[in-house]
Order: sequence, then structure tokens, then C-alpha cells
Amino acid sequence: MPAHLVDGKRVAKQVEEEVAAAIIRLGFQPVLVVVRVGNDPASEIYVRNKARKAEELGLRGDERIFPETLSEPDLLAEIDRLNRDQTVDGILVQLPLPKHIDPHRVIDAIDPAKDVDGFHPQNVGRLHLGRPALTPCTPAGVIRLLDACDLQIEGKHAVVIGRSDIVGKPVAALLLQRNATVTICHSRTRDLAAVARKADIVVAAIGKPFFVTAEMVKGGAAVIDVGINRIDASQASLVAHDEIKSALLAKNGHALVGDVDFVRVREVAAWITPVPGGVGPMTIAMLMSNTVKAAEWRRR
Ligand code: NDP
Repeated sequence: MPAHLVDGKRVAKQVEEEVAAAIIRLGFQPVLVVVRVGNDPASEIYVRNKARKAEELGLRGDERIFPETLSEPDLLAEIDRLNRDQTVDGILVQLPLPKHIDPHRVIDAIDPAKDVDGFHPQNVGRLHLGRPALTPCTPAGVIRLLDACDLQIEGKHAVVIGRSDIVGKPVAALLLQRNATVTICHSRTRDLAAVARKADIVVAAIGKPFFVTAEMVKGGAAVIDVGINRIDASQASLVAHDEIKSALLAKNGHALVGDVDFVRVREVAAWITPVPGGVGPMTIAMLMSNTVKAAEWRRR
């Protein structure tokens, strides 16, 4: 039997409903400020979507847009202003930043209590210590999707493929917090396929189309695909067995695929997330949830 599809849009909607209800309970409108430097078209869309979703759920979403030429000291001064502004609950600086700005310095400058991306070292440390923290949005979304599957995380063997600071490592920390037995794989892991095959839960965060094949997945596993890869006609052979992606590729000249060979892995796994429509929609929903959390905590 093919795996159950874990519908990220549906779970994200649930999170959004919780956020809207929490805002009504709070009795005030939390404020999220998204800072964008430069004209990266993808960042422009992300930032607009974040601000729009915030407004839709009853938060106030402000955009601060600066030219590519903004200096690092000027950006740090803006963050300092936002840190001091008592009306601001959440600050998010859209990455990537222009090359002349050090992203670490910028992230470190954000007040940890307003760090709704959960990237500040204080929040990272608190997450690893198992203390209350603002946790990164995509990893938090991965856990919500696993909670939507009919499985207990506790005691399961989870294999996380990828060890980035923004996805792999925080996903592993959150799974550990939920009492999974966690293995983290990366580009130097030996016989990764054999390691992955032992997993009850596989989280793929690599950035390589169709990296996870059916041979790497144990029967009955839950597979969460974080990867978002845009492929073009030159990679058509990769998706030849996938009717839907092949049709999209033929029609548009490009297609979005995950790190998991969805069509084949679906025949082996018990739960699987699609791309798009899996982890993607969760990220903005968890950002809104973090903003409400930040607003509540700061006022306490
Ligand atoms: P990074 O490039 O920062 O990290 C990739 C990780 O994969 C690294 O740890 C790397 O190992 C590992 N890796 C790369 N190649 C291999 C290999 N051949 N074998 C084993 N491990 C390998 O990516 P991110 O974590 O930022 O993102 C991962 C994917 O998730 C991307 O497709 C990205 O677009 C997507 N993403 C999706 C989001 C969403 O909202 N759905 C949000 C964020 C990311 P090593 O450390 O050894 O180099």
C-alpha cells in the first residue's frame, strides 16, 4: 500500500488557526518586522508572503526594505532600534544578505527574545539544553508534520540527513528532545544508505534532487522531505519515472522536486511529505507561531 501523504498545507492551516486563536486570547496585535536588504527576487517573494500571512492571521507584519548598498553598521543600527522598540515582538532578517555583511554579526545583534527565526546563539544553546527557546521554523514544522502522522516519536530511530545550522542540526535537537534515538548523516558519512535503512523516521535536508531512493528506506518508515530543488530540462532523466514531475518539466521547462524520490519511496514508506506542499507551507506558519510566543514571553 502506498504511504499516507502528510499534507503540509492542512497541518499549516491548523497551526495558523491556533495562532489566530492565541492572538485573540492575547488581546493585542503582536508585531513582526521583516528586514530585507537588496533586491534578491526570491527574498522579495518570501518577505512579502511573510508580511501578508502575518496580516491575515491578525498580527502586524512590517517590511523594512534597504538597498543592496546598506552598510553593515547601518544594518546593525537598525536592528538596535528594533530591539529597543517596545512595540516590536519579532525581528527577522531575510537571508542571504549581501556579501559585504557578515550574517553571524547580524544574527548575534538581534535581541534573543525577538529572534523569531531561532538562529541567535542563545536560542540555539537553549534548544540544545532542552530549555524553552524560540526554535527555528522549518525544523519546528518538521516535528509538527511528524506529530500529524499516527506514530510516536519517542523511542524511534530517527536519521537526519544534513547537518546545516538552519535545518539538520535543529531538527536533530528537537527529535532528541522528543526522546527519539537520533543519527545525523552528512557528506562524510560512510554507507549512508545502510544507516538510513535502519530508520523509523527519515528527515532529508540535503539539497540534492531525489537523493533518497527507495533502497535507502525501511518499510513502514516516516519520510519528511525538507529539500526544495528546482530542476530543468537537462535533468529530465532524473524524473523520467515520475509522470507528474515529467509533465511539469515538459510544460514549464522547470519543476520543483524534493530530496526524496517521492514516487518510488512512497511505495515503501508508511508516511511521506510531498514537495511542494509538505514542509514548505509549515515554515511561515511556524514563524507566525514563534512571533506570538515571543510576544507572550516578552510581556510576561
Ligand atoms: P545546506 O547546503 O546548508 O546543507 C546540506 C547538508 O546536506 C550538509 O550538511 C551536507 O553535508 C549534506 N550533504 C550534501 N551532500 C551530501 C551527500 N552527498 N551525502 C550526504 N550528505 C550530504 O542546506 P540546508 O540545510 O540549508 O537546506 C537543505 C535543503 O532544504 C535545501 O534543498 C533547501 O532548499 C531546503 N530548505 C527548505 C526549507 C523549507 O522551508 N522547506 C527551508 C530551508 C531549507 P556537509 O555538512 O558534510 O557538507
